[in-house]
Amino acid sequence: MALTRRTPLKRTPFKRKPIAKKETDPDAPKKKVVRKKKSDKRKLIEKLDKIFSIYIRLRDAMPHSGYVKCITCGKILHWKESQACHYIGRANMALRFSEVNVHAGCMPCNVFLHGNMLAYRRWMVKQYGEKIVDNLELRGNIEVKKWSEWELEETIKYYTALVEKIKSDKGL
Ligand SMILES: [Zn+2]
Repeated sequence: MALTRRTPLKRTPFKRKPIAKKETDPDAPKKKVVRKKKSDKRKLIEKLDKIFSIYIRLRDAMPHSGYVKCITCGKILHWKESQACHYIGRANMALRFSEVNVHAGCMPCNVFLHGNMLAYRRWMVKQYGEKIVDNLELRGNIEVKKWSEWELEETIKYYTALVEKIKSDKGL
């Protein structure tokens, strides 16, 4: 037997909620859009990171072929695929742009092996001697440097010119 309804369904009254009006009060405080802006100094540091990395990799590249040997694992790769590997980490602003502290290496050593530090130290000692490496490590622990915008700009100019020179000298 089919069910049939004799009485129509009662309609429940639909209550409309009043639509919230947008604040139009001109005196109401406006919400501030907080957008984190990179400071000029931050941008300059990034710019210097880039040009300094190019310089380091070109410095360590073989002329004409442009190949570099990863300082920690010995893998041969093109300078464009290599990375500028810091011995004392980049967080140390006194040594971030120190030529004795940065060398070309491969991405797996720099990223996955976090710098492959044991091999890096062995290479550093062989290259510069224990004294210089000890001194670098000491500086890494105690030295603090604040770069001025002017100093960053001048250093960018210096490495930009050096990159051009090294490119032409090495035929890269
Ligand atoms: Zn490597």
